[in-house]
Amino acid sequence: GYHKVLEENRKLYNQVQDLKGSIRVYCRVRPFLSAQPNYSSTVDNIEDGTITISIPSKNGKGRRSFNFNKVFGPSASQAEVFSDMQPLIRSVLDGYNVCIFAYGQTGSGKTHTMTGPKEITEKSRGVNYRALSDLFLTADQRRGTFCYDVSVQMIEIYNEQVRDLLVTDGSNKRLEIRSNSHRGLSVPDACQVPVSSTKDVIELMNLGQRNRAVGATALNDRSSRSHSCLTVHVQGRDLTSGTILRGCMHLVDLAGSERVDKSEATGDRLKEAQHINRSLSALGDVIASLAQKNQHVPYRNSKLTQLLQDSLGGQAKTLMFVHISPEVDAIGETISTLKFAERVATVELGAARVNKDGAADVKELKEQIASLKAALARK
Ligand code: ADP
Ligand code: MG
Repeated sequence: GYHKVLEENRKLYNQVQDLKGSIRVYCRVRPFLSAQPNYSSTVDNIEDGTITISIPSKNGKGRRSFNFNKVFGPSASQAEVFSDMQPLIRSVLDGYNVCIFAYGQTGSGKTHTMTGPKEITEKSRGVNYRALSDLFLTADQRRGTFCYDVSVQMIEIYNEQVRDLLVTDGSNKRLEIRSNSHRGLSVPDACQVPVSSTKDVIELMNLGQRNRAVGATALNDRSSRSHSCLTVHVQGRDLTSGTILRGCMHLVDLAGSERVDKSEATGDRLKEAQHINRSLSALGDVIASLAQKNQHVPYRNSKLTQLLQDSLGGQAKTLMFVHISPEVDAIGETISTLKFAERVATVELGAARVNKDGAADVKELKEQIASLKAALARK
């Protein structure tokens, strides 16, 4: 009874958030990786949207609770996790911009959530694959009323340089990010590949994986020191009214959030660490400034925040998915991750908005043309 009321409340709360367009925050706890039975976890309790952490201290143990839109415990399956995100993901077909980013220290399960484990099976596939597969399914159900085109881009940000992960010729060109570009193409020069089946998607993901592995050595798992982003572009035509809906979804696997101790890193590692620290602080600064409703939001301080500008700035539906490790020696990172996430959860964005072209929007387009003309005249 009581639990059901809580669950209903959470659903209502999430619907209200949907309307407000706030940033949603989910949390997932990784299970212990070894089968040893008497490991003790720092996670004391998970109940609905609340996670309670026990913090070892001088005088026994302290406890601290954090509230999010949803908390997944160590036994949550990939299917369960996806099913909670499904409505959000589907809204890209209705012309919304969606952004999901996985945050957390290295080894906490970000790649597991977004892509899956190393040896991937149908059951263990992550959000990226499931999202596209669900979009195809839903698009198919709407056949007859809507006609959809889906295409993807996949890029990596490493040491503040943007690289295309879908090149087939091994080229390694540096790409530019353009914010506010027409049609939501923030990296216009990255390959944009049309996809229409899950087979296409698997092939592209494998290509991206291979390209990402370039530059990684055994000692240096590059994936934990770069941000990778799968962008899905959807264009839908309403077959009766002729209206065009355009949605874009960024699925981001962020670099490990741990602060690398600068006194221990040298050379390339120090450079990587500085770039990661800088881009994640830039993300933190953007979020803090949105939370304070500042006039000026410092998007331009990193490639990551430039890339996500349209998703963090208001009209998008954004989900930050934080990951934590249960081990006692991770407690420091766990607490700082959860505190960061708590801060993000307070950000209120403007209402999410649909990207639509059509007769109804002629006025808006005319206004855009007028302002572009004015901008040109000023040059
Ligand atoms: P990250 O990308 O944050 O560095 P990974 O996703 O690579 O972390 O996870 C580290 C290890 O833990 C991997 O072997 C991964 O398969 C495993 N793992 C992470 N989350 C889970 C989970 N929910 N269930 C089972 N294994 C997991
Ligand atoms: Mg990873």
